[in-house]
Amino acid sequence: MPDTDHSRPAVTPLYAPLKAVVVPLEQVPDPVFAQQTMGPGMALEPLEAQLFSPCDGDIVHLARTQHALTLRTDRGCELLIHLGLDTVDLEGEGINVHVAPGDRVSQGDLLWDFDADLLACRALSLITPLVVTSSDQWRCEPGNAAPGSVIARGAPLMALVATSMVSSTVKEGGNNECRELVTLALAAGLHARPAARLRAIARRHDCTLLLEHDVQQADATSLTALMGLSLRQGDTLEIIACGNHAASALEEAVALLTTPEATELDPGHAALADDTSTVVPSGDDTTCHGLTASPGLAVGPLVRLARARIEISPDREESAEDAKRALTAAIGTLDDTLISDIERARTEGRSAEADILEAHQAWLDDPALREESLAHIQSGRSAAFAWREVLEGRISELRRSESRLLAARADDLRDLQERLIALLAPEAAVAAGQIEMTPGAIVVSDEITPSQFLALDRAAPAGLCLAGGGTTSHVALLARARGLPCLAAMGPQVLEVVARHAGESVILDAQKAVLVFQPTLDELEKAREQIEQDRARARAERQVAHEPARTLDAALIEVCANVTGHEEARVAHEAGADGIGLMRSEFLFMAQSRAPDEQAQRDIYQQALDGMGAHPVIIRTLDIGADKQLDYLSLPPVPNPALGTRGIRLMTRHQPLLDVQLRALLSVRPLDRLGIMLPMVTEAAELVAVRERLEVLAQEMNLEGRPALGAMIEVPAAALCADQLAQVADFLSIGTNDLTQYTLAMDREDPDLAGRADVLHPAVLRLIDMTVKGAAMHRCPVGVCGAAAGDPQAWAALVALGVDELSVEPARVAAVKAGIRRLDRAALSRALRDWLDEPLDSITLRQRLEQWLGEHVLTSTTTDAGASRDAI
Ligand code: PEP
Ligand code: MG
Repeated sequence: MPDTDHSRPAVTPLYAPLKAVVVPLEQVPDPVFAQQTMGPGMALEPLEAQLFSPCDGDIVHLARTQHALTLRTDRGCELLIHLGLDTVDLEGEGINVHVAPGDRVSQGDLLWDFDADLLACRALSLITPLVVTSSDQWRCEPGNAAPGSVIARGAPLMALVATSMVSSTVKEGGNNECRELVTLALAAGLHARPAARLRAIARRHDCTLLLEHDVQQADATSLTALMGLSLRQGDTLEIIACGNHAASALEEAVALLTTPEATELDPGHAALADDTSTVVPSGDDTTCHGLTASPGLAVGPLVRLARARIEISPDREESAEDAKRALTAAIGTLDDTLISDIERARTEGRSAEADILEAHQAWLDDPALREESLAHIQSGRSAAFAWREVLEGRISELRRSESRLLAARADDLRDLQERLIALLAPEAAVAAGQIEMTPGAIVVSDEITPSQFLALDRAAPAGLCLAGGGTTSHVALLARARGLPCLAAMGPQVLEVVARHAGESVILDAQKAVLVFQPTLDELEKAREQIEQDRARARAERQVAHEPARTLDAALIEVCANVTGHEEARVAHEAGADGIGLMRSEFLFMAQSRAPDEQAQRDIYQQALDGMGAHPVIIRTLDIGADKQLDYLSLPPVPNPALGTRGIRLMTRHQPLLDVQLRALLSVRPLDRLGIMLPMVTEAAELVAVRERLEVLAQEMNLEGRPALGAMIEVPAAALCADQLAQVADFLSIGTNDLTQYTLAMDREDPDLAGRADVLHPAVLRLIDMTVKGAAMHRCPVGVCGAAAGDPQAWAALVALGVDELSVEPARVAAVKAGIRRLDRAALSRALRDWLDEPLDSITLRQRLEQWLGEHVLTSTTTDAGASRDAI
């Protein structure tokens, strides 16, 4: 416990922790240190390879990669010691740390020994900054050692002088401060949306919420600071909450950051992960490659979209007060515009757009951006220029980020930058002009902001090629949602191409991620034919999406939709879904500090039923455990959560939670359109127990009708005993995601196994076959609600094995129905059964299926996004 005796002199001397050359912090070749972003201090260029503690204190933080630690002195001052620069990338290589968090150290105790040669060769520099991170309460008084001089180990280096009394309540973690170490579960890292949610949590609880990672700290009021942490999935960070409601704020923040996100704005998003390793081939004489941000094929004249920059004066002509007022007013106006745009987008069902605009609004509210701009105005800048300068800095930080996802957010910030400037300098904005865009063009740009995209989309381009951007950018999400073929990250060469070939007809094959310029007439003709065929087919598919889907040999296959909330149910209905095959109710429970009550749940379930017209809706009871956690359930740590108490096992142990959910489900009308589905069932007794409970509750509620009750087949035990389950269940639904994971003993979260954890493994297909046969013995219908139901090859294998229903993303409904109508189920069934007798692996099976489907089922190059254009 640190000594907080404030009667002692508030000065702590620091002694040189090793023999070194003294370097002023401003000369450190890293702006974060040089600009004192983390705080004041001093740096040392080591002349020996051991570093000792500069004072007495406690180790309060050690970076996972061991290259940095924070020492809290006995008077509560926090001192960061950062061994070398950019040493984080070494992942601890060449660094030997001799202390651990919580250790008490005395001045002169060994903290590190390190391989100086390795660090010198592999890191940016050996220069080691010592920085006071609690700089609001402490300042540094340099010692006598002159910059550039050699200081001996143990010689006085500098002194830490208290500028204010340290609040022991906060520093000592009293009632109003709590903290928790967590591992970030968000697949896309800490990006704009979760950052905005964190900020909302801090506001709701009127708390200070800080995230600490590595040696950096960010306040949740500042989106830029949060995203500046560049947190990625798997990163460990500490959440610190201070304030009267610190505990509940912390609880919500932990839940938010440790709960994997629901599928992002559109179904294609998950597949386009933040992959920094993708290599984009640069192309040859007539081609230019990129990454598929939105698939599809397009032909059209190549047009450059130049982003006109609004010309503004750097210096203000009015008083600082007037300029500040103008900035604040412009922020208010833009905020109002965003609020009404968001509302309109939500009402019109354009949820992807609404989410993006909400992220913009969160940026706009960032106090750091506002305060820095006001400071720039104070020092003589015009309001528009101040805003541009401040945002420019943030944009370049994001661009430099290793994370493609974060780098892609730069466009959002650019958008906000220009929109606000346009408000501050309307005449200049008009002068910058709008680009006249011919409909049907293939538009090339270095980058494009989401609102420019929306403006551009009104001009009906045929495709979009971006030199920058990424597959996870908001522009990419919008392009997918609109069905606009789009390639991103094409590099500057695409700008050269447009400079040389502007106006010429080109082919954008976003499916194959290539732009073909100077195509032959024959190539153009073929591409146009293909587009026409695809369009006609997609139109035809959408027109009959509401009709039932029967195979060529007359088997009726229901095509339902998977949804996470009631809003999506309406989209699914419009897309032609025959019902909801799976509503993952756990998403209602996540990112909340407590479970939604009965009424709140009922309302949502009822809205899902209402959104689906006369179609059935299957709602799965809370599926928690393994990768999906609820903080308020505080599950004890278990060695292997995926094999632990999860799904229905967990719910039967939390009877009150189950009862509330069952009662909420029993309150919806009409009950005969509702199916209740139990996740992770391993034996019939589990379903029987829930049915009995349902009966008791239904009687208490004086109900006459009863909903259907079904079981998910997600574990091999359930598949092997499907005939028994079918005796007690009203329906079965195969969760191929978990069934594949448990059958193959391959963690579905493990990216290294992603290529092998294939539902087309013969073992999984055999279990599916057993399930179908077991269910048939008792005339129990079987569906599939795992991702395999929408997989380009697997859906057909599932139909061939005899499933009655496929439940897919709403955007896939029309295309899957169309595929079913072109499939001869019996013929594929015969072929598949022959293949399953051979010793084939999933790769070969996939190839055989692809070939068979290519020969027997006409396939379309129409993209999912294209097919969904009207549905979204
Ligand atoms: C499954 O396991 O296939 C499934 C649909 O459930 P979830 O993906 O939600 O675990
Ligand atoms: Mg599952």
